[in-house]
Amino acid sequence: MRTFVDPDTCLGCGICETIAPNVFKLGSDPVAVVLLDPVPAGEEANVREAMDACPEQAISIEE
Ligand code: SF4
Repeated sequence: MRTFVDPDTCLGCGICETIAPNVFKLGSDPVAVVLLDPVPAGEEANVREAMDACPEQAISIEE
C-alpha cells in the first residue's frame, strides 16, 4: 500500500499523526507528510483509520 496527503487540502490538525505516528508527521507548514512509502503491512490498518478520521479527506491510499 502507498498513502498520500493532499497538501492543498490538509489543515494540519494532526489527527493522522496521532493515529498513525509511524506513517504521518506534521511538517513545519504545518502539513502532514508521509514517512513510510510503501506503507508496511503492519501499519495499513492505522493508515485506513487515519484516512477515515481525516476531517478534510486529505488522505488517499493506493493498493
Ligand atoms: S488528519 Fe487530515 S487534515 Fe489533519 S493533519 Fe492529517 S492529513 Fe491533514
